[in-house]
Amino acid sequence: TEWRKPVIVGEDVKPFMKEEHIYPPEYEGHFDGVMITCAEIHERIQQLATLIHTDYKGIRPVLVCTLKGASPFYIHLSDALKEIRQGFDMEFVRASSYEGTATSGQVEFVGELKMNSLQGRHILLIEDIVDTGTTLSALIPMLQQQGNPAGVEVCSLLDKRLEVKKYEAKYVGFSIPNKFVIGYGLDYEELYRDLKDIFVISQLGISFDAS
Ligand code: 5GP
Repeated sequence: TEWRKPVIVGEDVKPFMKEEHIYPPEYEGHFDGVMITCAEIHERIQQLATLIHTDYKGIRPVLVCTLKGASPFYIHLSDALKEIRQGFDMEFVRASSYEGTATSGQVEFVGELKMNSLQGRHILLIEDIVDTGTTLSALIPMLQQQGNPAGVEVCSLLDKRLEVKKYEAKYVGFSIPNKFVIGYGLDYEELYRDLKDIFVISQLGISFDAS
């Protein structure tokens, strides 16, 4: 179906209109544009859940959440899977490759993912965003070698349009322009995870110091 293809978000980002969004008052002035609204996210999540259910009929995948960024997506996607009676197991991993807005190239894994829980299972990694693909090109071989699963696929809410990518997810919510986005789990210096929508950060947002 058409749902297999990501929703394409154009290069020209919609202007931010404060009356149209709900956000904590301390973030006033921190957004430059609207990348994706929560209504658009939820509509797309229904489609992704249907696709996943089509592909995993009779299979109980292990949904692995990459913390912290993917957590809102993980919760809403797993809710949509429950509604259509698609069973799954839940695991969590912490992967971190970013310092500020520039990729450091370093990927670290922390957390308590039990590798023996993956033996022979179909893993579906739930990601917030695939940027260069560095994180996934490190995480996937590690899961394959240490967990010996039957398969590893990736469902990412966002995919940035870049010339060169080290990894392409099988399930993608939205293809977005190469801009730094925040909200719906995505942070800048641990801020902005507590937003319903996904925005482009403003200059004030970048220079803001919460401490
Ligand atoms: P990659 O390894 O694919 O280059 O980057 C993946 C990770 O970098 C994501 O899981 C996310 O933590 C971070 N990242 C990449 N692009 C963005 C972005 O536009 N906004 C935010 N907040 N994080 C990003």
